[in-house]
Amino acid sequence: MRLRGPLFPNVPLFWKVLVPFLALVVLVGAFGVFLITRDLSSRAQATLDRDLSRRSLDARALLRDRELYLLESANFAANLERMDAAINAEDDAAIGRLLQSVLALKADLTLVAGTNRAGLGLVEFTRPAPGAASSFGKGTRWSDHAFVVEALRGREGRKTSGYLPANGRTMLAIAAPVCTIDEACDAVGVAIVAIAVDDLAAAATGKPPSAPAAPPLSQTGVAIYGPDGRILARAGLSAPDEQLPGTATVDNPSRRTHRSGSTEIATLYTPLEVQGTKTGTLATSIPTGPAFSAVKGAATRLAVIVLMVIAGIVALGALISRSILAQLRPLVETNRALGQGDLAARAPVFGNDELGELAQGVNQMAEQLQAHYETLELRVEQRTEEVRRLLRDRTEFFAGLSHELRTPLAVILLQAKALLTSPGSRVARDEATDVIRTSASELLELVNDILDLAQAEAGSVEVNLERVRVTDVLLSLAPMLQRLGAAADIEVNVAVPARLPAVTADHSRLREIVVNLVDNAVKYTPSGGTVDVSAARDDRWVRVSVADTGVGIPPEVGDQLFEPFYRVPGTRPQRDEASTGLGLALSRRWVEAQGGAITWAPNPHGGTVFAFTLPLARPPLNLSKGDAIRPVRPA
Ligand code: ADP
Repeated sequence: MRLRGPLFPNVPLFWKVLVPFLALVVLVGAFGVFLITRDLSSRAQATLDRDLSRRSLDARALLRDRELYLLESANFAANLERMDAAINAEDDAAIGRLLQSVLALKADLTLVAGTNRAGLGLVEFTRPAPGAASSFGKGTRWSDHAFVVEALRGREGRKTSGYLPANGRTMLAIAAPVCTIDEACDAVGVAIVAIAVDDLAAAATGKPPSAPAAPPLSQTGVAIYGPDGRILARAGLSAPDEQLPGTATVDNPSRRTHRSGSTEIATLYTPLEVQGTKTGTLATSIPTGPAFSAVKGAATRLAVIVLMVIAGIVALGALISRSILAQLRPLVETNRALGQGDLAARAPVFGNDELGELAQGVNQMAEQLQAHYETLELRVEQRTEEVRRLLRDRTEFFAGLSHELRTPLAVILLQAKALLTSPGSRVARDEATDVIRTSASELLELVNDILDLAQAEAGSVEVNLERVRVTDVLLSLAPMLQRLGAAADIEVNVAVPARLPAVTADHSRLREIVVNLVDNAVKYTPSGGTVDVSAARDDRWVRVSVADTGVGIPPEVGDQLFEPFYRVPGTRPQRDEASTGLGLALSRRWVEAQGGAITWAPNPHGGTVFAFTLPLARPPLNLSKGDAIRPVRPA
C-alpha cells in the first residue's frame, strides 16, 4: 500500500487522535442505547398489550355477571306466583306488590315493569340509582320496542333483550314473557327488568379480584357502544370516540391508541353479547404511561450511564494523549533547536518505551552531528592554515624570484650603460660584453629552471621512463664531474660497482640530478676537499649518494632545503659560483616523478651527504621451452 502522507497535516496530533476516538465511542454508545431501548420498548409494548387484554377480560367478566343477574331477575319477576293471574286481571295493585318484592330483592335493578298482552305498561317502577327509592308509573307503550313484542309473541317463553330510554338514561332491558301454559308459552304479558348502561360501565371499571395489581379505577376506562355504533355510556378514562371505530370481533379485537390531554390511552374494542347475541361493543382503555414510564426510566438511566462511560473514556483518552504529547513536545522542540543549529540541544528521556527510544535516537544523532561538526571545524581550520601557508610560500617564492631576476638584470643594465656612456679601451669593452653575456646566460638558466619548476608544480613533469644502468650513467659522467671538481681544486671520485641491477628511470633527468648534486657539493666545499659519488643496491632500489667534505648544513634545516629559493642562512658558494636556489627543488620533483625519493644527512666526516633512490626495473621475462603464460587471476 502506498502512503499518501498524513491526513489533515495542519491539525494538532492531539485532536487528530481524540476526535475520531470520541466519534467512535459516541457512535458505539448511541448504537448500544438504541438497541437496548428498542428491546425495552418492545417489552413495554408486550406488557401494555397483556395489561389491556386482562383489563378487557375482567370488564367482560363483570358485564357477564351483570347479564346473568339481569336474566335471573327477569326470570324471577316473570315466574312470580300469581303474576299471570294479576296481569290477566289487570290488577295493578297486585302486580305492583309483586314487582316491588322483586325490587326489594334485586337492589341493582333501575327499572321493573309489567305489561299486558298488548304490551301496554300496567305497572312500572324506576329509580335513579341502584337501591334508591323508586317512583311509580304506568301506561308506557312497551310494544314500541321490538324486543318486547318478540317476547310477547314467542311461543317458547324465551327472554329477549334490548336498550330503552327511561328517566333520561339508556337501560339494558330484558323482557321475560309471563306464560300461562307450561309446555307452550301463551304470554299474558311480559316482565321487564333493566339496569342503566352507565351503571354497567361503572361496574365494569371496578377493580376485580382477579387483578389485584391492575391500575386504579381512575386509570381504567370502559365505554359501551350500542348496535348502531353510537356511544351509550362510559366510565373512568375517556373513550376515544363518540362513534365506534370500524368493526371488532372477540377473536380479532381491534386496538387503537389516542391522546387525551397529555395522557396517551390504549383502547381495546370487543363485542358485547347478551344471551349469545351481539348487542354492542365494549371498549376497555388504560393509559400507556405506566408501561412505558418504566422503559423511559430505564432508558434515561442507561443514557446517563452511557454518557458517564463516554465522558470517562474521553477523559482517559485525553489523559493518555496528553501524556504521550507531553513526551513528544520536548522531542519536537529538541528537533527544532537542532534544526536551527543548536547542536548542544538534547531531548529528555522519560522511559524505555518507543518514545524513550526515539528520544535516545535523537540524542545519539545530535551527538554524532556535534562530533562531526567539531571535526569539520578542525579540518576547516587546518585547511585554512594550509592555504595561508601556501599563500605565504607563494609570496616568498615571488619575492625570491624577483630578487634572483633583478641581480643579473641589474648587472646587464650597468654594463650596457657603461658601454654606451664611456666605451673605453677595447679590453674594457670586451670585459663588459663578457659580463653581459655571463649574466644573460645565468638569467636564461634561471628562467629555464623556473619554467621547469612551474611545469613540475603544475603536476606535469615529463619523464621518459626506461631501463637504465646506473653504473653506465655514472661512469659516462665521471670525466665531466672530475673536470668540474678540478676547476675548484676539489677531488671528485666516482666509485660504482660493476654490476648493479637496472632501474626504471629517465636517462637525461638522471644525469641532470647527478650533475646538480655534484655541482652543489663542489660549490659548498672549500678548495682541497673531496666529493665522493657512489651507488649501491638497497632492497628494491638503487641508491645514488653524493658526499662532500664541505661547509655542511645545520640539521634543523630539514626538508626546507628542497623549497624553491631556499638558501641555508650564512652559507655562500665558496668561489662566488652562480646560485639560483632552484637546483634542489627541481631535483626533488624529478626524483619523485621517477618513483624515488631524495634525502640529505650530515656527513660523519664533515660536510653533507645527498642521496636519492630509483626503483629497480622489473626483470625481463626469461621464457624457456614448455613454460606457458598463465593469465593472472584476481585473488
Ligand atoms: P643553489 O643554486 O643556491 O645551490 P640549490 O637548490 O642547489 O640552490 O641549493 C639550495 C641551498 O642549499 C644552497 O643555497 C645551499 O645553501 C644549500 N646547499 C646545497 N647543497 C649543499 C652542499 N653540498 N653543502 C652545503 N650546502 C648546500
